[in-house]
Amino acid sequence: MPTYNFSAGPAVMPKPVIDQIQAELPSFQDSGMSIMEISHRSQLFEQVINDAEQDLRDLMQIPNNYRVLFFQGGGTLQFTAAPLNLATAHHHIGLLDSGHWASRAADEARRVATQVDILATGTDNHFTALPQLQGPVDQNLDYVHLTTNNTIEGTMYTKLPDTGHVPLVADMSSNFLGQPYNVTDFGMIFAGAQKNLGPAGLTIVIVRDDLIGHAKNLPSMLDYQLFAEKQSMFNTPPVFAIYAAGLVLKWLKAQGGLAAMAQRNQEKAARLYDFLDQSQLFNNPVIPSDRSTMNVPFMTGDPALDAQFIAGATDQGLLNLKGHRLVGGMRASLYNAMPLAGVDALVDYLATFEATHAKGVLN
Ligand SMILES: *Cc1c(COP(=O)(O)O)cnc(C)c1O
Repeated sequence: MPTYNFSAGPAVMPKPVIDQIQAELPSFQDSGMSIMEISHRSQLFEQVINDAEQDLRDLMQIPNNYRVLFFQGGGTLQFTAAPLNLATAHHHIGLLDSGHWASRAADEARRVATQVDILATGTDNHFTALPQLQGPVDQNLDYVHLTTNNTIEGTMYTKLPDTGHVPLVADMSSNFLGQPYNVTDFGMIFAGAQKNLGPAGLTIVIVRDDLIGHAKNLPSMLDYQLFAEKQSMFNTPPVFAIYAAGLVLKWLKAQGGLAAMAQRNQEKAARLYDFLDQSQLFNNPVIPSDRSTMNVPFMTGDPALDAQFIAGATDQGLLNLKGHRLVGGMRASLYNAMPLAGVDALVDYLATFEATHAKGVLN
């Protein structure tokens, strides 16, 4: 029986990539050593990290005036690093409060003495719709923080807010490389790898040249300028994670790049939303225009029935469908590496479950 992993993160990776890692694990490039055992200063690894950067630049069409940095510390460390590096003129940022991760970013920015203005919030509708700017933003903000895809709430910005001259800093952790974005629309983009790129332990930062180098005396491990100067090798980088992410980037290129991924992701998401929208039993709470193609929460409204659904799904090889504790119910994450066949298997199981547990039949 095939299994399909709907985990929100760490999440499914492409099968051919896992196979390649397995095949070349004992001896990387005939070196007699695994990738985990070679020096990060070796030529072998230099090739790996340079390829990864170049492939990422090709896929996202990253202009030369943007640096690509390989960090550790997850998306969460960037909640601290971004204000430390970029909020240097006014120590004042704006933020669109689109859910859990946005509010975590606000908390961390405040801890490093950055004033955070909540420009709009989705609390009134329990984050089932995206908050949108109401009018122009204060042009003295150092930047505006935006969570492009809200992993827990299942919402995604496709149209970006207009912040005038204030740079946008995007937490793209859960839809990184899931569709094309215009890099020049952002001052900075960051993403933890373990949602849509590769193993945990690597975080990508893409930042515009002119925005870095203004902070004084930052701790080295938080300093974008230093990481840019040292080509992300100030200390030992996460060698294995960069290698694996590099293979995923090559896989993405072979799939036709981000436009092709976007098309596939839309198709996968549409199949699931179409089922949910006609279902009498299951419901997705997000307004259609703001729905994520990556993370789809859904529920029956009855926690006992949800639990039964999840147990039955697991028996069918449909794994990790339990929803986040903040939202409850179920959540299906449909990242790049989830094949259409996985979504079809999920929809089949949803239909079978509904036929046997329809609300009328319950009492
Ligand atoms: C998972 C996630 C994070 C946190 O990532 P870590 O790598 O665990 O620190 C931040 N933002 C978003 C949107 C996420 O999905």
